[in-house]
Amino acid sequence: MIQMKTPLVEMDGDEMTRVLWRQIKEILLSPYIDLKTEYYDLGLEHREETEDSVTVEAARATLRLGVAVKCATITPNAERVREYNLREMWKSPNGTIRAILDGTVFRAPILAEGISPLVANWQKPITVARHAYGDLYRDVETIVPAGGKAELTVTAADGTETRQLIHAYEGTAGIALGMHNTDKSIESFARACFRYALDAGQDLWFAAKDTISKQYDHRFKDIFAAIYAAEFEADFRRAGIEYFYTLIDDAVARVMRSSGGFIWACKNYDGDVMSDMVATAFGSLAMMTSVLVSPTGAFEYEAAHGTVQRHYYRYLQGEKTSTNSVATIFAWTGALRKRAELDGLADLAAFADRLEKAALGVIGAGIMTGDLAAISRLAHKKTVDSEGFLLAVREALE
Ligand code: NAP
Ligand code: MG
Repeated sequence: MIQMKTPLVEMDGDEMTRVLWRQIKEILLSPYIDLKTEYYDLGLEHREETEDSVTVEAARATLRLGVAVKCATITPNAERVREYNLREMWKSPNGTIRAILDGTVFRAPILAEGISPLVANWQKPITVARHAYGDLYRDVETIVPAGGKAELTVTAADGTETRQLIHAYEGTAGIALGMHNTDKSIESFARACFRYALDAGQDLWFAAKDTISKQYDHRFKDIFAAIYAAEFEADFRRAGIEYFYTLIDDAVARVMRSSGGFIWACKNYDGDVMSDMVATAFGSLAMMTSVLVSPTGAFEYEAAHGTVQRHYYRYLQGEKTSTNSVATIFAWTGALRKRAELDGLADLAAFADRLEKAALGVIGAGIMTGDLAAISRLAHKKTVDSEGFLLAVREALE
């Protein structure tokens, strides 16, 4: 039995991924590790019972203990409010956790033999880091009637006002929006990206549209450059990696031509869009991991996909589903490896490596869930159900 020192923060979740969560623990973890976790049930029923305070507690525990692993959770919408008879449309747990950790999300694809990226020259993973604060996601929007005008007013601390005309809407109605960001948040984002790149030993790319957005996007570019020069340049040199800034459209072109193997830091909207493109091109959303890194050095690992609702409804009717558990397994191995690194537990780190190798080995040997079988180029492949895959990984581990 492998022993642990500090417990992991364990955040349970919803639907099909909650089912997989239990099976992963039973089949792949508990037989080998004396698992120590501080358990928080983020399943929607329990969030309702606790008026969502459980999410806040779990996030605070992550700051305290340093490493968390999270199962996918339902973000309630109107439909879910009816389905679960909720008192309130509770906020997205990931949003709540991100806000408390003030973190940056890094999404990295898992590469397996036979599952080749749609972009033929991508041989190594591309990790997308999305700035998870501000811009379009915290904007103020309005419709302006014809004949009206929109202005940007800034009131300084001493009460001085500066006004700029955005647009005078002559003869037509129109639209306007106000976006913001803060130096503090951009600085945290930059530091999280530089640290992650050093940790991974990979180059960091960052891109914005500073030629057009001479104040807003330019600020991002300047803050990244200043923090790099003051705090990271020497370490990057020593590690043999580089920081590279370019315009967002040039970055997109270069990413497509690249062979991968770098971290791509994106502003909030770019990251939202580009991470979906990169995930799809690498094969499957079910093969994408996600890590939230706080500026204080707390890590939260999860799969990038959701609760796989459609599979869950079939599971509830007694059907066997073929749901891919790889990203959830890698969330566990990522968290265990980080815990091992912090606590100096070599055998725990070795187990995390072994489990990942076993999972990838099974896929390479042609045994996989339906989503992968549909895209695998292996000549001989066998589609298994959710549990069948976990049992095959268990056998490979033995
Ligand atoms: P989803 O759960 O990611 O699933 C969308 C579709 O992608 C599935 O129906 C399935 O396609 C395929 N898929 C995703 N993961 C898979 C896996 N592990 N194995 C096999 N196929 C997989 O997204 P959703 O249906 O839009 O969202 C469901 C719930 O998840 C929502 O309530 C949403 O709020 C929540 N969500 C949570 C998180 C999170 O906690 N991080 C992230 C996203 C969404 P087929 O049905 O065609 O097989
Ligand atoms: Mg998106």
